[in-house]
Amino acid sequence: MQLIFEQSVPGRQGFKMPVSDVPAKTQIADRYRRIKECAWPQVSELEVVRHFTKLSQLNFSVDSIFYPLGSCTMKYNPKFTEAVARLPGFADLHPLLAQLSDGESLAQGALKVLYDMDRFLSEITGMDDFTMQPLAGAHGELTGVMLIAAYHKAKGNKKKYIIIPDSAHGTNPASAATAGYDIISIPTKKDGTMDVEILKKKLNPDVAAVMLTCPDTLGIFNSDIDKIAEMVHNVDGLMYYDGANLNAILGRCRPGDLGFDVIHINLHKTFATPHGGGGPGAGPVGVKKRLSKYLPISRVVQRPNKTLFLDYDCPDSIGYTSSFYGNFAVILKAYAYILLLGKDGLTETSNHAVLNANYIMHRLKKYFTVPYERTCMHECVFSAAQQVEKGVHAIDIAKFLIDQGIHPPTVYFPMIVKEAMMVEPTETESKQAMDRFIDCMIKAADLAQRNPSMFKDLPITTPISRPDETKAARDVDCNFFFDTK
Ligand SMILES: *Cc1c(COP(=O)(O)O)cnc(C)c1O
Repeated sequence: MQLIFEQSVPGRQGFKMPVSDVPAKTQIADRYRRIKECAWPQVSELEVVRHFTKLSQLNFSVDSIFYPLGSCTMKYNPKFTEAVARLPGFADLHPLLAQLSDGESLAQGALKVLYDMDRFLSEITGMDDFTMQPLAGAHGELTGVMLIAAYHKAKGNKKKYIIIPDSAHGTNPASAATAGYDIISIPTKKDGTMDVEILKKKLNPDVAAVMLTCPDTLGIFNSDIDKIAEMVHNVDGLMYYDGANLNAILGRCRPGDLGFDVIHINLHKTFATPHGGGGPGAGPVGVKKRLSKYLPISRVVQRPNKTLFLDYDCPDSIGYTSSFYGNFAVILKAYAYILLLGKDGLTETSNHAVLNANYIMHRLKKYFTVPYERTCMHECVFSAAQQVEKGVHAIDIAKFLIDQGIHPPTVYFPMIVKEAMMVEPTETESKQAMDRFIDCMIKAADLAQRNPSMFKDLPITTPISRPDETKAARDVDCNFFFDTK
């Protein structure tokens, strides 16, 4: 497919401006002014429409294809939630309105969404209070670790370390390090869970917290959590729950009941809003009562007469972690989603997410290595170890799937599995869609045995086949548009 620049024909125009009848004048200093004509493509309106329509059709999206990207929960999200987010009463609301004494009454609806979400998420997770501010899962982690730091500081605890299993999402150690902690990494046992014996040895009074993902990134639920929580609390450490994968346990178990003190949730994975392309997201953070006073400002508070207001009088708060109230439209979509599904619907979500992942694992385990074979939760991890013997790697199978019109699973993560392929079908896929994926994977396994060399030329259905990924990331020419004197 041609770039729009390659379609350019000198003099062709999509839109003509009338000739200006006032003299041109500019305030921009000479040294900042463009010396060459801007290299805009010269194309007609129809060419622009066709070009971008074609481009949008090249996009892989949940609305068009099966997208089993492990850990990212690329599920279908009802269009109803999008419609709610566009309601003018919400979409046109000025973010400062609720802070004005005469504007507060006009913002009661939006404040109610924030207030109710705090209550809903607390009930769903077993925590006491939530902040809606963080803008993504990783941002929620950083906020959560800052809350942990504030808690220890107030108690006069001098803590240096955060313990994280080696199967964790990379954002966990990154967030803990950004908040100023050193990381202690704990290896994963053969059964796919964190090694508690090693944790016992590493745990010491300088440990501020243990960050756990449960089910972890191998899709495995750790049934030792209560034991771990007790050990950690005994050294006055806190338990952090990475709740990005909440769709695995929704309605069935609550991190707050398991002994966790701080949690972040990815609204954009579990509660509507498609997750991908880097945004938009929301990573609300929940805490147990003893940490509530450190939550970011502002807090939405209810008066005795049931009206809501923004409370900035929170002397122990860690302050703002993002502007205003977080990613309001994403929070609103999650709110609509929770009300749409209700308690039973949310529980059905996790039932199906888990059932679907187990179905795929069982049907494919004859063809691909399953490094941790046991009942999985919302995702299952395979390894292309058998295929590698023939020279076919996880990346080759990923490229094969692209040609089949399927988004590849997450590959090479979790990092503790060689040639990992992490499949998360999500709860929204039908048996037929999963069967088609399974058939394609079986075909890939078969071709890897019979004709391994054919993989090297894949994909053939995309405009670019195999870019040099390192070069593509490094050599970006930013000067194309912006050359000034
Ligand atoms: C997605 C994910 C994150 C990070 O969330 P972002 O919104 O992408 O920052 C953290 N932990 C786990 C387990 C995840 O799956």
